[in-house]
Amino acid sequence: MTAALLDTLRQTVGAAHVLTEGDLSAWTQDWRRREPGRALAVVRPANTQEVAAVVRACAHTGTPIVPQGGNTGLSVGSTPDGSGQAVLLSLARLNRVRAIDQANLTMTAEAGCILQAVQQAAAQADLLFPLSLAAEGSCTIGGNLAANAGGTQVLRYGNARELCLGLEVVTAQGDIWDGLSGLRKDNTGYDLRHLMIGSEGTLGIITAATLKLFARPAAQLTAWAALPSMAAAVQLLGLAQRHLGAALTGFEVMGQFALSLVSRHMPQLRVPFVGQADAPWCVLLENSDSESEQHARERFERLMELALEAGCIQDAVVAESIAQARELWHVRESIPLAQAQEGLNIKHDISVAASRIPDFVAHTDALLTREVPGARLVTFGHLGDGNLHYNVQAPEGGDAAAFLRQQEARVNQLVYDAVAAHGGSFSAEHGVGRLKAHTLTHYKSPVALSMMRAIKAALDPQGILNPGCVLSK
Ligand code: FAD
Repeated sequence: MTAALLDTLRQTVGAAHVLTEGDLSAWTQDWRRREPGRALAVVRPANTQEVAAVVRACAHTGTPIVPQGGNTGLSVGSTPDGSGQAVLLSLARLNRVRAIDQANLTMTAEAGCILQAVQQAAAQADLLFPLSLAAEGSCTIGGNLAANAGGTQVLRYGNARELCLGLEVVTAQGDIWDGLSGLRKDNTGYDLRHLMIGSEGTLGIITAATLKLFARPAAQLTAWAALPSMAAAVQLLGLAQRHLGAALTGFEVMGQFALSLVSRHMPQLRVPFVGQADAPWCVLLENSDSESEQHARERFERLMELALEAGCIQDAVVAESIAQARELWHVRESIPLAQAQEGLNIKHDISVAASRIPDFVAHTDALLTREVPGARLVTFGHLGDGNLHYNVQAPEGGDAAAFLRQQEARVNQLVYDAVAAHGGSFSAEHGVGRLKAHTLTHYKSPVALSMMRAIKAALDPQGILNPGCVLSK
């Protein structure tokens, strides 16, 4: 049966695009190297019809399918398990921008388009596609939508979900649903688009999307401020929202230890206020103005004065050039890499209402310091969205692998219990994947879980689409 399936797949997409031998780790190993996977074959269709034919062939034999875009996901959802039974379906060759509609402010792009290429295509049309994240040079728009990616501009433009007006999807039966309308209003029943977005490849294969575009801001300014406390950071967020309104497009918080890792591992980068003992937190703010750079600078400088008067910042720098602004963003975006270079760590991508973040951080920092001696807390994230990457680095100089083996489950429970107690979510933007499927079972309400299982059973009765991802088997 396997040989017959592989023959059909070769006939469908061409033998060169059905890979079964050699080093397939680029597709089968997850980005964080948490779990080595094995695939029956890596299959690389070129268009929607080929995707549909591949799914039909797999449905016929009951073969599991794991869809994959750029394989930058952080929850082990885009790689197969170790059984070697699943077909890894790479969408990378579906990489055409099909159309840009200037008057409707939309772009229709295929799922395998790299996010950066989508941004560039919008810029060439003098428009903006605002989704932005550190993996944008490798992740795909299909993966962004399947994972409902967040990133640095959510505060102003929303998650990937808010940026999508329509989808083209291959169902678990291999049918093609053309939902590529560019409509901003369409109340004709259940919203299948929103069901697919964030479903992490478990309900359908996204092959194309119609995306919202925006006018490009006339000027963008970036500032970096040093703050005495997390409460001050939340106070500054409120001030910035009131003073800048929709012009506030980024608000990132970074703890001093996270910044010290960037200084240690990337000594070529200049990190403002790093090591300043009276400023345990720094914030990066971005102001995107529709009028002019001068207008943006005046409003930004006034905001900084107000923040200084209110005592919520100690010091601040406003970037003088685009190069300086890029450098500041580069520091922020280098934290995950610096953390990886420091060694193995336990990652949490949590959200809590911004107003409750100071209490969550104080409570959970104290808890971990008491319960897990030596643990080093690497806290940073999109404070404007109430989203923290609340990560735990093994004790300095210790055996990090042993630390993770012994402590990871306990640390996760301490953190996720604290998140739940603060009314938050254990996965803000990285999704559930296979890594957190059991966590979902534990923290999601039984009613919500039962509705999710009913939807999965209705759309994918054979359970072939990304089994074990989101909903545990
Ligand atoms: P993949 O990793 O290939 O897949 C992700 C999930 O979507 C998997 O479950 C997969 O099966 C499914 N999938 C992929 N393509 C399709 C498709 N066409 N149809 C159906 N299902 C599909 N995420 C954020 O939200 N915000 C951040 O700020 C952020 N920063 C990051 C920084 C770094 C350095 C890295 C490595 C990752 C970061 N991520 C972030 C996580 C990741 O980049 C995003 O989740 C991204 O959206 C995944 O896109 P991808 O194409 O790589 O998808």
